Amino acid sequence: MDTVKVKQAAVFAYESLNQLFWPAVCINCRASICETDRSLCKSCWGQLITCTGADYCPRCGRDASKFAILEGACPDCQGKEFYFDGIARSGVYKVGESLQQMILAFKNGRTELDSTLALLANSALQGSGFADEIELFVPVPLHWSRRLARGYNQSLILTRKLEHPTAKISTDLVRNRRTKLQPTMASATARARNVAGAFAVRKGHNFAGKKICLVDDIKTTGATLNECAKTLQQAGASKIFALVLAVAGQNIS
Ligand SMILES: [Zn+2]
Ligand SMILES: [Zn+2]
Repeated sequence: MDTVKVKQAAVFAYESLNQLFWPAVCINCRASICETDRSLCKSCWGQLITCTGADYCPRCGRDASKFAILEGACPDCQGKEFYFDGIARSGVYKVGESLQQMILAFKNGRTELDSTLALLANSALQGSGFADEIELFVPVPLHWSRRLARGYNQSLILTRKLEHPTAKISTDLVRNRRTKLQPTMASATARARNVAGAFAVRKGHNFAGKKICLVDDIKTTGATLNECAKTLQQAGASKIFALVLAVAGQNIS
C-alpha cells in the first residue's frame, strides 16, 4: 500500500470508529443522522418547518391569516393594550413538537442548541419588517436568583447570536422582583398581576429615544413582554418591538 492509501484507510477506520462510538445524532431527539443533515434529523426539521411556516398577527404573534388582520390587529388582539409596537416570532409552542422540546432543553442546560435556535430567530427577525429600525436589543431579564440557579439567561445567549449590522445589546433592563413561574397560572389577568412592577432599568441606561427590540424565548399571554415594554417606554424608549422563538397558549386569552 502506498502512503496515500494508508492514510485513506486510517481516516476511514477513524471515521468508522467515530461513527460507532460517537454516531452523529439529532441535536434534539438523538435519532442518528448523517453528517450532512445540519444537526437535526428529518423528522425534527419537518416539525420545525411546519410550526415556523404559518402566517401570524404582527401585533400579538398568534396564528392568523393575512386576510383576518384589520388595521394591523387580528380578531384575537383587537382592543387589547400592548406596549410593544410589533412582534416577530419563529414558530408556535406546541407540546411534544421539536421547537418546544428545543426551547425547554435550551433553558435546562443545553446551551449548544443556541446556533439552531438562533437560525430560527434570525429568520423571523429578517421577515419582521422592523429589523432595520432596531437600535438596541434587550433580552428579557431573569431575576438574579433564577439566573444564579440556572447559570445563564437563555434570552441573553439567544440575543448574542442575532445578526444585525448596527444594533447593540443592552442588559440595563432588570427584574427586581422574583415572580412565580408563569406556566403555573392560566389566566391573562393573573399573569399580568404576577409581573406588574417586576422590572426596572439600571442607572445610566441609554434607552431614551431608542428603538428597542425585546428578545425572549416564549410569549404566552404577552404579560411579561408587555410589562418590560412598559418599563422601557417609561425610560424614554421611542419604539419597542419584540422577537420570540415561540408563541404559546393559542387558547389562553
Ligand atoms: Zn430529531
Ligand atoms: Zn393579534
